[in-house]
Amino acid sequence: MNKYPSSVHALEGAVVYMADAGDRDVLVCEGKPYFGGSEGVNRFELTHEVACTLRRLFPFTAPKRVLGEKRSFGLGDRLGIACPGHIRVISKFDVMPVFAQQSIRELDLTHRTYEDVLDAATFAVFRENFTRGFGADGDHLKKPADIEYALSLGFTMLTLDLSEHIHADASGKYSQDVDALYAGKTFEVEGEKISFTAEELQRVKGVYGEALDFAKEMYDRFLKDGRYDCDLEISIDETDTPTKPSEHFFVANELRRLGVDVKTVAPRFIGEFQKGIDYIGDPKQFDAEMKVHAAIARQFGYKISVHSGSDKFSVFPYVGEETKQNYHVKTAGTNWLEAMRIVAAHDPRLYREIHLFALESFAEARKYYHVTTDLNAIPDIGGLSDAQLPELFNDNNARQLIHITYGLILSARNEDGSFRFKTRLYAFWRAHSEEYAQALEKHIGRHLSMLGCPRAD
Ligand SMILES: [Zn+2]
Repeated sequence: MNKYPSSVHALEGAVVYMADAGDRDVLVCEGKPYFGGSEGVNRFELTHEVACTLRRLFPFTAPKRVLGEKRSFGLGDRLGIACPGHIRVISKFDVMPVFAQQSIRELDLTHRTYEDVLDAATFAVFRENFTRGFGADGDHLKKPADIEYALSLGFTMLTLDLSEHIHADASGKYSQDVDALYAGKTFEVEGEKISFTAEELQRVKGVYGEALDFAKEMYDRFLKDGRYDCDLEISIDETDTPTKPSEHFFVANELRRLGVDVKTVAPRFIGEFQKGIDYIGDPKQFDAEMKVHAAIARQFGYKISVHSGSDKFSVFPYVGEETKQNYHVKTAGTNWLEAMRIVAAHDPRLYREIHLFALESFAEARKYYHVTTDLNAIPDIGGLSDAQLPELFNDNNARQLIHITYGLILSARNEDGSFRFKTRLYAFWRAHSEEYAQALEKHIGRHLSMLGCPRAD
């Protein structure tokens, strides 16, 4: 059994560390039986109970609030194995990480729980001795039961998704009478003028009014009394049209009036933020709009949050600049793509099987994700040599094919009930964990560099 050197931590009368037990990691406590058992050497599987005890004994392994920091970066880990690589890259930059970050959609598609997600981060920071702290984000939550679930586990960031209460046709109702506050008025934000005609106000109220009422209801119910140590992000990004400056201003000003303390807001930006590929649109136009959104955020004392941030290299410099290095950026699926790129490079047979399965499953996966993938543009895998397979991950269509079919790939079963790919994949990734960590370090490092994030001292 190989001890992870950086995982060795002393407690009064005991030493606690993690070790590689071949097909899995285990936790060992030598001395006083802090995790149960009797005095001596006790070995434990990485269960939720062990994670809870670890968080109690070693506070750096428990999540904390991070949105109040200048820069924060979300690294959703769909597989529960990316965190050691994420730690490696985050250690080199001056930014606060959110290592636990999943939406209910992702949990459903990967058959994981919030316990799994949080525990994977706890064990990773303990193993690697990453003591800077990290956040845990209940991402894109819409229902009170889901919010309660994440908060009760100690998640430190709630991303409240208002999309179900945003009415593009302006048919929504708002409890507040705000006509006298906005109609015919012009507001100034860092020299930028934002005006509301009576008609524009009616429209904005109809689109966002109900969403604002819902935000206040959820804030008052869960966060106002401070019983949970948690920051609030408001997400209005999952809409069909970009958020206009007037809309963002209205939402920001109303949140303040309603007493909703928000740390980040995620608007929907101009252009397309599709999963796992670079920005689609005119970066200059993005820059112009980001400037206004960032100014509004500054005026109201919160940070802009950029979702679907994986691989948006062409606009990152503008995010960094216009926000004056005050941002939250979320990435999620990109670590899954990096994991699959390594499969393509080292186990071409397995990759070919999965690729063909993904092609068959694409129509089903597409129900959950907005992408414009052209399957016909993906090279026929039968005509590619093994050495050419990793290059598929430089092709946007092939990237999206693998990106959105993750849930189906991981849950596919054989006739006898065993997993068709999952067991082989996890065994493969365990054997290639060093390559995976290196790939993540490079790939996520490129994100942070393009954002202009300063290096850690
Ligand atoms: Zn989002």
